[in-house]
Amino acid sequence: MTKWVYTFGDGAAEGQADMRNLLGGKGANLAEMCRVGVPVPPGFTITTEVCTYYYENNKTYPEDLKQQVLDALKFIENKMGYKFGDKENPLLFSVRSGARVSMPGMMDTVLNLGLNDETVEGLAKRSNNKRFAYDSYRRFIQMYADVVMGVSSTRFEKVLDRVREENGYKYDNQITEEQLKSVIQEFKTICEEEGKPLPQDPMEQLWGGIGAVFGSWMVDRAIYYRKLNNIPGDWGTAVNVQSMVFGNSGDNSATGVCFSRDPATGENYFYGEYLKNAQGEDVVAGIRTPQPMTKLVKERSGTDLPCMEEEFPDLYAQLNDIRHKLEAHYKDMQDMEFTIQDGKLWMLQTRNGKRTGTAALRIAVEMVREGLIDKKTAIMRVDANQLDQLLHPTFDKKAKKEVLSTGLPASPGAAVGQVVFSAAEAEKTASEGKKVVLVRIETSPEDIAGMHVSQGILTARGGMTSHAAVVARGMGKPCVSGVSDLRIDYEGQFLKVGDTVLKAGDMISIDGTTGQVIKGELPLVVAEMAGNFGEFMSWVDEIRTLHVRTNAETPKDAETARRFGAEGIGLCRTEHMFFDPSRINHMREMILADNEEDRRKALDKLLPYQRQDFIDLFKIMEGLPVTIRLLDPPLHEFLPQKEADQVELAQSLGVSLEDIVARTAALHEANPMLGHRGCRLGVTYPEISEMQAQAIFEAAVKVMQETGKDFVPEVEIPLAATKKELDLIKQRVVKMAEKVMKETGKTFKYKVGTMIELPRACLMADKLAETAEFFNFGTNDLTQTTLGVSRDDAGSFLPDYVTKGIYPADPFASLDQEGVGALMQLAAKKGKGVRPDIEIGICGEHGGDPASIDFCHRIGLDYVSCSPYRVPIARLAAAQAAVRNG
Ligand code: ADP
Ligand code: MG
Ligand code: MG
Repeated sequence: MTKWVYTFGDGAAEGQADMRNLLGGKGANLAEMCRVGVPVPPGFTITTEVCTYYYENNKTYPEDLKQQVLDALKFIENKMGYKFGDKENPLLFSVRSGARVSMPGMMDTVLNLGLNDETVEGLAKRSNNKRFAYDSYRRFIQMYADVVMGVSSTRFEKVLDRVREENGYKYDNQITEEQLKSVIQEFKTICEEEGKPLPQDPMEQLWGGIGAVFGSWMVDRAIYYRKLNNIPGDWGTAVNVQSMVFGNSGDNSATGVCFSRDPATGENYFYGEYLKNAQGEDVVAGIRTPQPMTKLVKERSGTDLPCMEEEFPDLYAQLNDIRHKLEAHYKDMQDMEFTIQDGKLWMLQTRNGKRTGTAALRIAVEMVREGLIDKKTAIMRVDANQLDQLLHPTFDKKAKKEVLSTGLPASPGAAVGQVVFSAAEAEKTASEGKKVVLVRIETSPEDIAGMHVSQGILTARGGMTSHAAVVARGMGKPCVSGVSDLRIDYEGQFLKVGDTVLKAGDMISIDGTTGQVIKGELPLVVAEMAGNFGEFMSWVDEIRTLHVRTNAETPKDAETARRFGAEGIGLCRTEHMFFDPSRINHMREMILADNEEDRRKALDKLLPYQRQDFIDLFKIMEGLPVTIRLLDPPLHEFLPQKEADQVELAQSLGVSLEDIVARTAALHEANPMLGHRGCRLGVTYPEISEMQAQAIFEAAVKVMQETGKDFVPEVEIPLAATKKELDLIKQRVVKMAEKVMKETGKTFKYKVGTMIELPRACLMADKLAETAEFFNFGTNDLTQTTLGVSRDDAGSFLPDYVTKGIYPADPFASLDQEGVGALMQLAAKKGKGVRPDIEIGICGEHGGDPASIDFCHRIGLDYVSCSPYRVPIARLAAAQAAVRNG
């Protein structure tokens, strides 16, 4: 016989914490709390297996479930001394859903189940409090109708609104016993009008509640959430049926939520709120202002409301003990719900609390110091992506601020700048060296360039997944979205919040971590890897085996990355160095030259610039490895596209406009992903590779001589498809190295390798490794050339080209492990087969993505390389991969 039902009651339980798969998170923890001697109202959990059975068997229950539920009911009746459905002494239940992981979209809880026209009188008599009994009944009808019968709460709320208004009440708890009686009548009428009468039979109510929980597993919201979070549909939810305790039975009763530490900052004090004479979600619903737990919080917040420590000192002490007990037991910060009924404390829930990145880090470090957890556990406690919050500049907490409004914290970080109302204006103002905040009703793909040059983005509309929010997070830019009281007048060039008007050019500050919009210029403080953060990252570095480099070509990026702990440069793109206004014309001259001699002349002019770039980078990197990629993009990208610019170029080079237009057309690549680019430029114009190699080696020698410290520059040949291409270019690079050694009298080591971006290159990696001394997976392009998918196809998600109408895949998504990843694994194996000490890394966007980093660890890469701000995230993800995979 399968056991479908597990009971729990004060002091004992059939389940326990590690039975979360069977009992759901809530049920397992209720059982565990009973086991460790915390007061919990008795109840029982119907397992997730019943849910699975229900959906596999045409929405029917296992035959013996009914009897097991009845047995459990008896057990609770005996413990409580009440009877379910009894007129004199009724037992009441809450019916709560509970999946393995907490899941929004699941059924709301039904409280006070078991009340009807008769039992409500029994409750009134037993408690000697009619008002309380009627209040519980009206709550029950409202919840049951909403959750089980599908009658929206609005009609019920309207009745309550009316009663409050008619009597000049501010709160529901002012409504009198008599008034509640007629409210209940109205509520019952609403149910009838909306379909069917409220069931009076408690058993029918109970099975209605159980059925509603299982039914909610398959509502659209829940299905959608599961897909988004990769939660399998066959996990199922459990149902918890628990005897009621009443926080609404008078002023010696209360209900509250609390955290064992502050979930926003991680500070170790008792954090929480409670409301007297209230039930269930009243605390979070913001109906009345809740009261703080401790004197400390009371003082800090400056509230006049009494705190629990003062109002219920004994119960507070008991709850504080439970706080310590549960934290020590679970070895993690707890999020708890409690209720006080007539001076007795009951715990209704505990779970590991959600927290900000800042809090996660502080709690993890302090718990190691307290001896509660070890370093490996601490490392797994911080979500790598959440570290982002700690890396961006933040507002000085001590600064005075005028908050205009609060929107959604769409992308973390602080931004200050002049208000601009269009992407074009953002670009123009930013090009004058000014900082701007782009303010839009909402953003669209045309705004990308403007967003890129802005310090931050503020939108009146849109949620956490709006265009502005998604793009801003991708760019690492602070963003506040959905500020509903923000009025934007594009024509008048001003914005209005309340009575405050800001014109274009006025200063504004936005905090993407809190969602605050602040008038004027608030001072910023730079993120520092000091204190707890520094200590935590030192543990991370002890454990990880993957190295972390950065993608950088400017001194600023390289410096930032080193501050964040980068161990080298994995990708320095040289073409970005040619777009500078002082160089672009030499570059164009080189491209437009029609013979080698003229090309070399133009290249000679570029050489000193390029050499200086590398000198700067080598100095900053102080001997760490630096991988420099030779020129990569198709040449037409360097030529002007607008006619006015073409005329100007023609004049400055002394050639005809027709000539420029013709050359641009000839160089144009129909498919700029492929075609005449990458190593093929070096094959057709070897003098370009020679100049770049010369610049690299001369810069290296200069820095080695100046610092007296040798290092190994790495020359990278992009987008190779064949060994022959590598051979042709490597030969030139080697010659140049010898020449520089001879001319400078300094011998040095260097490596020549390739960036792997084509499926062909992966398949031929053994051949390529005969020439290449290192591989670097360029997974942005490799994902595109493989037609990789950005999300696991195993879910029922459609490929991006269906959902978004575009290929390539989303570059911010995780690596396509089955497609692209399999090619990488093959290439790594083939490469090592030929050249055992070959160095292999990844430098695509995936090098900064935790799930992709885990994959790179598993296939034995040497390093990942990512943008500077993701370096600490990658370090942590690498350590987590090491812990996870051993
Ligand atoms: P959620 O998963 O949304 O937190 P819960 O099942 O924890 O939902 O319940 C919602 C509210 O009902 C909480 O405030 C909880 O404290 C309260 N509640 C649940 N069960 C009981 C009970 N047996 N007695 C009193 N209040 C309860
Ligand atoms: Mg809860
Ligand atoms: Mg590429």
